[in-house]
Amino acid sequence: MKSPDRKYDVIIAGSGLGGLLCGTILTKEGIDVCILEKSSQAGGCLQTFLRHGVVFDTGVHYFGGMDPGQTLYRYWNYFGLTRSLALERMNPDGFDIIGINGRDYPMAMGFDHFIEQLLPCFPSEKGNLEKYIRCLKEITAAFPLYNLEIPKDLKEENFRSQSAFDFFSALSGSGRLASVLAGNNLLYAGNREHTPLHIPALINHSFISSAWRTIGGSAQIAERLMEGILSYGGKIHLEEEVTEIRLKENEFEVMTKPGRCFSSKKFISGIHPAKTLKMMESAIFRKSFFKRITNLKNTVSSFAIYIVLKDRSFPYLNHNYYYHKTEDVWNYGSDDGWPSGYMMHTPAPASEDGFANNMIILASMPFEMVKKWEHTQKGNRGPEYLEFKDQCTAALLDFAEQRFPGLRSAILYREASTPLTWRDYTGIPEGSMYGIERDYQDPLMTTLLPATKIPGFYFTGQNINLHGVLGVTIGAILTCGEILGLEYLLNKIRNT
Ligand SMILES: Cc1cc2nc3c(=O)[nH]c(=O)nc-3n(C[C@H](O)[C@H](O)[C@H](O)COP(=O)(O)OP(=O)(O)OC[C@H]3O[C@@H](n4cnc5c(N)ncnc54)[C@H](O)[C@@H]3O)c2cc1C
Repeated sequence: MKSPDRKYDVIIAGSGLGGLLCGTILTKEGIDVCILEKSSQAGGCLQTFLRHGVVFDTGVHYFGGMDPGQTLYRYWNYFGLTRSLALERMNPDGFDIIGINGRDYPMAMGFDHFIEQLLPCFPSEKGNLEKYIRCLKEITAAFPLYNLEIPKDLKEENFRSQSAFDFFSALSGSGRLASVLAGNNLLYAGNREHTPLHIPALINHSFISSAWRTIGGSAQIAERLMEGILSYGGKIHLEEEVTEIRLKENEFEVMTKPGRCFSSKKFISGIHPAKTLKMMESAIFRKSFFKRITNLKNTVSSFAIYIVLKDRSFPYLNHNYYYHKTEDVWNYGSDDGWPSGYMMHTPAPASEDGFANNMIILASMPFEMVKKWEHTQKGNRGPEYLEFKDQCTAALLDFAEQRFPGLRSAILYREASTPLTWRDYTGIPEGSMYGIERDYQDPLMTTLLPATKIPGFYFTGQNINLHGVLGVTIGAILTCGEILGLEYLLNKIRNT
């Protein structure tokens, strides 16, 4: 076998947010790190693309908690991201608007303001709104890492085994309030059967604290992190897809598609765990672990339309718009009468005269809807698939046009992505939006820890802690905390 081209302290597979954050932490500590990325662009879901001169995000449209002192700000301050990103604060009176069957409801920033803004829509439910905010605060207080503290007890486990759907349902006198509060659940692929309560609680708390968009696309997050890693002496190899991982005399040997071999003392996988295990010799992990991880269900995938708008044809909206046909907002994942809902937004920046340059409309889509083309390659999936894509585009545009009359005539150019596009773009099985689906009925089996039974072998990214920018950030702290010591790392972050 080929001998390693180069030895490192740590090899990280995948340059998504998880891989890049781990790369930053470790290189800052003087550790010799190499990141191997299959794509020609780093960033995974942070990648952007250009059409007609406008930038489209792929997987990060907004994030929360970036005011000084808030959770993401405190973490990202350590990564140098609070000073270097171009960000726009979203509309404080409604960063998300939830539309249900023709009526709109604002989700406002600030906990008191959140209640004030929704109260006119639900005048008899002040108590329920107050209870909701109280619960969000109580739940997030039980998650030490959300508060940059060392986990000392198991209080948070309590919320991992409660149903999000039951929580929202019990909170509301009218079914409508429950639907509104869960109306952005595309953000976490919420479904009534599995979603644990802690997921919407952490995510919604962070967005109500403060909600932000990047100006000019989320790839800048990856760019800033890469600059940091390179300046600390780390290496990043693009178009270097990992194909095989071997363990030889306590060292990892990592083979890549271009035929190179890298070796290291420690290995962090930032790619989907099932995919990672399939690249390893079966004897390395116990059969039961392999079976558990490779059989875990993934969250639903998505269908998206990327639209370049004609000049001065559609107003710039400094909020996201989530629309649902009916009060059953937990219908994601069903292919019955697709689409049942969507999320629409107009990325920043606005044009000088306040119009939108582009728009993304996103709907959940089960992989089963494209399964018959699963063995096809990008650009060569056949006429039937193209016909399917056109039909889905028409259905989603018709649906959005009902709420935004004139939308179709504002389109200069459009293209669409399906679960297959997403699968082939990021390498996430079935094009799943957020990776492994956590299940409140079986939290232990659906939770993956960063450290494994193999010394020196770790996971990071959205599959270990929680998906999304904040979840992946805390996940990187957990992973690197296994290597450096969590207390040591948190102290550094708190003292930055
Ligand atoms: C449509 C959509 C919208 C979203 N919107 C938001 C949002 O608004 N806000 C938010 O906070 N979160 C959002 N998310 C979630 C968020 O984008 C992800 O949770 C997060 O970016 C995942 O980061 P990661 O590092 O775990 O994985 P990824 O970003 O998936 O990174 C994995 C990397 O590994 C690489 N890779 C895969 N296989 C290999 C291999 N064999 N060898 C080498 N490299 C490999 C991939 O190319 C990729 O670069 C969204 C996700 C989706 C899908």
